[in-house]
Amino acid sequence: TSKRLYLGIDFGTSGARYALIDDQGNLCSERKRAYPQTGNGKSRATSWKETLFELLNDVPEEYRPNVASISIDGTSATTLIINRDNGEVLSGPFLYNESFPDALPTVLSIAPENHTVCTGSSTLCKLVSWWELTSSSNRESAILLHQSDWLLWLLHGVYGVSDYNNALKLGYDPEADAYPRWLASQPYQYMLPSIKAPGTPIALLKEDLRLQYGFPKECVVCTGTTDSIAAFLAARAISPGKSVTSLGSTLAIKLLSLVRVEDARYGVYSHRLDDKWLVGGASNTGGAVLRKIFTDDQLVTLSGKINPSEQSPLDLYPLPKKGERFPISDPNMMPRLEPRPESDVEYLHGILESIARIEAKGYRLLKELGATAVEEVFTAGGGAKNDTWRKIRERVLGLPVNKAIQTEAAFGAALLAMKGARAKTYV
Ligand code: ADP
Repeated sequence: TSKRLYLGIDFGTSGARYALIDDQGNLCSERKRAYPQTGNGKSRATSWKETLFELLNDVPEEYRPNVASISIDGTSATTLIINRDNGEVLSGPFLYNESFPDALPTVLSIAPENHTVCTGSSTLCKLVSWWELTSSSNRESAILLHQSDWLLWLLHGVYGVSDYNNALKLGYDPEADAYPRWLASQPYQYMLPSIKAPGTPIALLKEDLRLQYGFPKECVVCTGTTDSIAAFLAARAISPGKSVTSLGSTLAIKLLSLVRVEDARYGVYSHRLDDKWLVGGASNTGGAVLRKIFTDDQLVTLSGKINPSEQSPLDLYPLPKKGERFPISDPNMMPRLEPRPESDVEYLHGILESIARIEAKGYRLLKELGATAVEEVFTAGGGAKNDTWRKIRERVLGLPVNKAIQTEAAFGAALLAMKGARAKTYV
């Protein structure tokens, strides 16, 4: 068969997964693997590398000759310092949530106020912390790569390529599509990767790998993105005004907008997606509070008894602990979980409806800040399976709300691979 297939690989926090899709976006094959145990001489980087090759090996042999392209997403701000001559890991990986407050004063002194790099876990803090602790001879051959850049590098062998989604927390300016002068003038500027749009072809798959696994000669390796953007892409909310609300432990909103929106007070910022912007905000409300009060089984039975077309009189603000950022910026805000009615059905109704109001307020805030108005909402996360909640949210938001068909980041990475394979030009 001459059917073209596209391979996306997601490197998440606990494991990695691939998704193989066809031109119509049908999922042909997928597989998940946990990372092998680190320690006893096995580094984290090695465990990722092994998982990458295990997943390539998991792709059924009959599909492999049709794989036109590969892309990879990784956790944002996960950073490695690599020897540019041989690809050896010199330092790291520094994980997405690892903080380097020692580097913060330096970063604050060079970056504009409230810039995304101004937090101890930003990629730039990781770079600056390493730089300040490293001798000049060891600095010479070093280059910075994000998790997905390095894994992609293992496949294509071209040094120093990244994408503007991963590079945002490094300080890259996605609007100018360049490193800003305050960063490009630093002594470590030579370590910064060159930046492409996500889903840009980088190079052909290395010949030895192609022959070893049986991928075709034309198989091209494409730039990736971060795991949360890949998960957004999976939902295929592809026109401005479409959005994805993720109802997991927290409530996270991602809206496709024609306008870039940033507001540090609310933790709102935008990632570039070609000629559009992905505007995001995250509330501390969400499933974590639900789980404190009800079991998942109770959520199902109680939800079944709620009439979603009826408005709940309860006005709650469910938070797992003190403090909220979006759509209300108040580090001292207290959870409001009372009054608790005698009926659990009424209580859950009030909680679900109150969370829906927070969601609606979130979308209103993004619009006030200048984003494209939301028109349609897709839902991902554990709360997406609750159809009663979906109906409540449709009423409260006044918008169509649907469960996203695909929510796996690996599927989003496969869509980026498809984009890259269809692009005619090489970088
Ligand atoms: P995480 O952010 O931890 O990845 P998940 O996307 O797995 O979260 O979602 C888990 C959350 O979904 C839990 O906090 C739980 O309260 C919530 N949840 C599970 N089942 C339901 C349900 N039927 N209705 C609403 N919420 C649910």
